[in-house]
Amino acid sequence: APLTAPDQGRDALSALHSVFGLSGFRGAQEQIISHVTAGGNCLVLMPTGGGKSLCYQLPALLREGCGIVVSPLIALMRDQVAGLIESGVNAAALNSSLTPQEASDVERRLIAGDLDLLYVAPERLVTPRCLSMLAQANVALFAIDEAHCVSQWGHDFRPEYVALSVIAERFPDVPRIALTATADELTRKEIVQRLSLTDAPQFVSSFDRPNIRYEIVDKRNAVSQLKEFIRERHAGDAGVVYCLSRNRVEEVASALSDAGIPALPYHAGLDGSIRSRNQDRFLNEDGIVIVATVAFGMGIDKPDVRFVAHLDLPKSIEAYYQETGRAGRDGKPSAAWMAYGLQDIVQQRRMIDESSASDDFKRVSIGKLDALVGLAETAHCRRKRLLAYFGETLQGDTCGNCDNCLTPPRLRDGKVLAQKLLSCAYRTGQRFGAMHLIDVLIGRLTEKVTQFGHDKLSVFGIGRELNEKQWRTVLRQLVAMGHLQSDSEAFGALKLTESSRAVLRGETDIWLREEAPGTRIRASRAKS
Ligand code: ADP
Ligand code: ZN
Repeated sequence: APLTAPDQGRDALSALHSVFGLSGFRGAQEQIISHVTAGGNCLVLMPTGGGKSLCYQLPALLREGCGIVVSPLIALMRDQVAGLIESGVNAAALNSSLTPQEASDVERRLIAGDLDLLYVAPERLVTPRCLSMLAQANVALFAIDEAHCVSQWGHDFRPEYVALSVIAERFPDVPRIALTATADELTRKEIVQRLSLTDAPQFVSSFDRPNIRYEIVDKRNAVSQLKEFIRERHAGDAGVVYCLSRNRVEEVASALSDAGIPALPYHAGLDGSIRSRNQDRFLNEDGIVIVATVAFGMGIDKPDVRFVAHLDLPKSIEAYYQETGRAGRDGKPSAAWMAYGLQDIVQQRRMIDESSASDDFKRVSIGKLDALVGLAETAHCRRKRLLAYFGETLQGDTCGNCDNCLTPPRLRDGKVLAQKLLSCAYRTGQRFGAMHLIDVLIGRLTEKVTQFGHDKLSVFGIGRELNEKQWRTVLRQLVAMGHLQSDSEAFGALKLTESSRAVLRGETDIWLREEAPGTRIRASRAKS
């Protein structure tokens, strides 16, 4: 049934019942809907699964005219439009998958006032043709979904989003609602500026996902750790495994398959038909593990993903939050598990250093990476740390549902250990990587040690109180703290930094996690 003119008088709640079959609003939905229905602009920050779509779909139905939804992904549009049509809403999409005939049919319906909601790809919306068509139509509102794509600092930057500033210029009287599930302070500012939302209220929901258990483990052999994690805790569950490269995706997917875990690869290098077949199997069958690059996920609405695993460090807390947020959209207990090691920091740093980006961009990227490394290294509640990054304060000291809260790591005074390690890097000429430094510290007479005469140095064998694995943990933490850095131009040689001097002089307090994370949740499970 058409839901335009005759239904205007209907209030939001009855539309919620009759159109969407839902019994009540969630969180800030009601407030947002009444603000937008009354013609106001706003920015909505709500976690994935929070219910953002209703925030523009309902006002579009309640206001006169058609709601225009800017959405970056064709697959996402298709699903949303299909769902809406099923609920009796006159919805359509305009994107590159339509034939010219189909497109002009949609345009005709828009101008005739036959549509309640129209999804448009951003690059299409900003064309002169589309803008003049919109000028002829009666537009109820503009909804800009995945609004963080305007942020050039963000992990999902889409240049075509920048041009969306034309909406405010050309249609100043039509309400604009921008929505996103990821927005740190910087991204939020950029959205506000680019979409002209300076005076608009921001509706910020809690980003907490209490049903997700966060766990970050020390990476040793990532693939066998992953297999163990799946076998022991998620046998038969659907999950997503993120890797950095296409090769790695293939390698991990076949390793899991060989181990009897139904795993499928997904990355941009795969043939389109294979990609969509794998995605469909993941969505429709039970217990499929998809191994993917970051190309996978935006707009995937599968409620019962029980775990999201990272085998490589993402680029930022925002990316980590968004990717882990794909777990447990049904509210049931789920896991966000990541294996992380020194090599991850080194690799991400190198990618930033070697990119052709501007110095500003590199600086921001390094800041974002450091924040994520801080989350990986923290000995305190990970959830609090994660939420604090988005400006949110969680009450209490512990959340009770992250590895550090469940089994608090022991801390030790690491001043002397740090001094030993830094002296060792210094005395050996700042030309060697982790392995060799540890050999010298624990006094191993390797060929390389003898070749360079490092057994004659005062630092040789001064670190016998720790074993190799423990030294690796210390080393990684010092790199994470910035007291030691890996030089990508010198094959990963570890060098001192500006802050090293104060550490060597004993002026800096250093607290280190005693053991590598990872063994702890398993240990606590064994007890229970
Ligand atoms: P987001 O876009 O924020 O990730 P969606 O709009 O896709 O979230 O909504 C996520 C799920 O929550 C959908 O299945 C939707 O039907 C459901 N949902 C949204 N609002 C409500 C509500 N008020 N009551 C019950 N379910 C809701
Ligand atoms: Zn916690």
